[in-house]
Amino acid sequence: MKKYTIECTKCNNVITQTAEEAVNATRNEDVKKRVIMKRVFEARCPKCQNIHFVTRPFLYQDDERRALYVLASEGMDVDRFVKKQNLKGNYKKQYSLRVVRSINQLVEKILLVENNINDKAIEVLKLFFVMGEKNSNIRNVYFEELEGNRIRLAVIMADGRQLTAYADVKGLERIVSINKKALNEKKHEWEEVNVKWAMDFYNANEAEINRIGALVEEQTKRENEALKKLLEERKAKVEEKKPTAKKTTTKKTETKKTEKKEPKKTTKKTAEKKVAEKKVAEKKVAEKKVAEKETKKTTEKKSTKKATITETKKTTKKTDK
Ligand SMILES: [Zn+2]
Repeated sequence: MKKYTIECTKCNNVITQTAEEAVNATRNEDVKKRVIMKRVFEARCPKCQNIHFVTRPFLYQDDERRALYVLASEGMDVDRFVKKQNLKGNYKKQYSLRVVRSINQLVEKILLVENNINDKAIEVLKLFFVMGEKNSNIRNVYFEELEGNRIRLAVIMADGRQLTAYADVKGLERIVSINKKALNEKKHEWEEVNVKWAMDFYNANEAEINRIGALVEEQTKRENEALKKLLEERKAKVEEKKPTAKKTTTKKTETKKTEKKEPKKTTKKTAEKKVAEKKVAEKKVAEKKVAEKETKKTTEKKSTKKATITETKKTTKKTDK
């Protein structure tokens, strides 16, 4: 337990609080939940009841998942901080070691490991999602949940709004196919896996990404042309056979034609689809958009504003509040 003092942003009252510096969440759903719900970072002002989320040095440990995550400010000596927590075992050798700079990043890492999802692959997927979007007002994207074969993402806009987007889980497989080795754990090393990491991955594998991208583009073009041709042929035949037929009859003829043409088309489509699967730097990676929901708390809004997509350019501050 450690003592913290912060100033209330609403009434300037000085809040003194005692909170845990480290938690062990191994097979402990309550602890996990407290971190995921950000309750361990909450500080309520006794004077005005305003709730603050305090970004402070924090260690999250899960021996079952072999995860060791440290929430640290820039320049903080992570090894020294961890040593102070007196952990047992050779964690550095076996664990996934991550340094995060914000509460949101920490929560995301926990949600990912709980869902058995590679956080490096997710960072790349998020980067592709942002690149595929024309909207440049996206501040940040966070993994939220795995819903069947869909990945639910929280999209934080520049004005603080939070949108929900979905990405196909297949997108992750495609990313792995680009460079599987790069997504492995670096043993003995604290890693910061964020948008900057994803950009480095992109730059290092750009040739392969472009190669696949161009291939898919070509295939899509060919597919569209074939489809256009098929529709034209069908249209011509319908007109030729029953020029004065009622709409219902026309439809019947159309269906028959499609059935006849189908087998030929399927073989081609399967091949094309296979290539398309490999495509990464495209919207297909992230099928998107659905509902829109406002960010609930002002404090959260503030934190998301600071946690921008460019935060890894070393502009992150010590507190999110
Ligand atoms: Zn207050």
